[in-house]
Amino acid sequence: MTNSNDSSSTVLDTQNTGPSLACGRSSSIPGAGDTGPSLACDQPESGRPRHECGVCGIFGHKYAAKLTYFGLYALQHRGQESAGIVTSDGKKVSIHKDMGLVPEIFTETILKGLPGHMAVGHVRYSTTGSSHITNTQPLMVTHKGTTLAVAHNGNLVNAIELRHDLEEKGSIFQTGMDSEVILHLMARTAHLGLDLALTDSFSCLKGAYSILMMTQDTLVAVRDPGGFRPLCLGQLNNGGWVVASETCALDLIEAKYVRDIEPGEMLIITDDGMRSIFPWPKQKPSFCIFEQVYFARPDSDIFGINVYQARKRMGEILARECPIDADFVMPFPDSGNYAALGYSQASGLPLEMGMIRNHYVGRTFINPTQSMRDFNVRVKLNPVRSLLQDKRIVIVEDSIIRGTTGKSRVRSLRDAGAKEVHMLVSCPPTRNACYYGIDFPSSTELIAAKRSVADIADYLGLDSLHYLSLEGLVEAAGLGKENYCLACFDGNYPVAPDLDFHKGALDI
Ligand code: SF4
Repeated sequence: MTNSNDSSSTVLDTQNTGPSLACGRSSSIPGAGDTGPSLACDQPESGRPRHECGVCGIFGHKYAAKLTYFGLYALQHRGQESAGIVTSDGKKVSIHKDMGLVPEIFTETILKGLPGHMAVGHVRYSTTGSSHITNTQPLMVTHKGTTLAVAHNGNLVNAIELRHDLEEKGSIFQTGMDSEVILHLMARTAHLGLDLALTDSFSCLKGAYSILMMTQDTLVAVRDPGGFRPLCLGQLNNGGWVVASETCALDLIEAKYVRDIEPGEMLIITDDGMRSIFPWPKQKPSFCIFEQVYFARPDSDIFGINVYQARKRMGEILARECPIDADFVMPFPDSGNYAALGYSQASGLPLEMGMIRNHYVGRTFINPTQSMRDFNVRVKLNPVRSLLQDKRIVIVEDSIIRGTTGKSRVRSLRDAGAKEVHMLVSCPPTRNACYYGIDFPSSTELIAAKRSVADIADYLGLDSLHYLSLEGLVEAAGLGKENYCLACFDGNYPVAPDLDFHKGALDI
């Protein structure tokens, strides 16, 4: 089995390059003022849950690489560490992947070097394996003349056990990602033919996976039997197909939404058409409700429900559950925008934007050398003093994870003159770690696992703090409770997790 993790490209002579890449490279924004000697440093938004990964695949379009690029561009919120695209013209497979954002990695020239009518792409935030070039996806290997590429969103809870077994049988792993076990399992069963290899290999997996796989001539989409992560099918204007994590990717490339890939479905697309196999008995769904709360884009429909509308309903139900006497309601943009809108409309409290977001802050900026309290917060969100002065305000947040970001933001509102600061959270207290592809810290780092609601309010410097009830969240999300994974709130894990598992557990 040959691993092809290095980026490569072949130059294709094309004059008509299809839709143009209007998106420029992103830039970092330096801090202002007298900062003295400085150091460029990474400034992730600490205290927020991290996105997982996003996948996009195209079958049957001459600009497959470019359409995949745009699909990944729309899915960038699901992973900002690395991105990659693999393409095939039916015989020859090409790949390019690197660390960084989608528009930083791909240029017109690089996309021209990815020929073919089929493609699979991936944006990554590492939930298993460190953030490193060896851990970028799609993963690609060649085994006995067949090339197989894999792009995975989710986490396998039995990856350590599977990898140990495979290593005992002679497999040599080259990455720290759980997804690599899929390649080894597929290689070991390849002689059975595609359908049996898929069924046999995936029967070993436990956990969350929305996966795109590609050989030289076949695109395969697989969703785990619980359907933790979203995955949808769309049709392109020319009749070709697209499979993507969220419907916002379909919109950007003018594809028509057809349906979700069903939990437990394996969808196989070739030149001969499309077919599905369902190898497992139907199970109770385990849709990740946090996709609705925080992860997915509001313009996407997730699990058949529009995210914008669901978040607005969370705010409306908060207004019913937690009425507060105040002057206005505001979000910390952009996280609580839609729930704040719902709260305002349902309660009659005016909606104001009491903090303004600097949209041009990149992931990297120059650190101030002198101590500038809450600099990281203020560089992104600055309070509108004249609006906040002597006002009683209600903040709507989508979640509180560690509480560190919220504490600085509340202090910033107080410094700007707010008389009372109340906070409403559009989900219940997050008390348990996630083992299914979301980088929630271990429960020891989750503030709600250690403190009561009153203690959290004290820690954040609030006059009051209220969370949406679990029943309210489920009502807002739109499907019955039995359809969701709610483990980070109620501790009921739909698939038994491996408690020894952590992000670096498979690092080599
Ligand atoms: S534990 Fe929470 S974040 Fe993880 S899959 Fe379940 S609902 Fe989603």
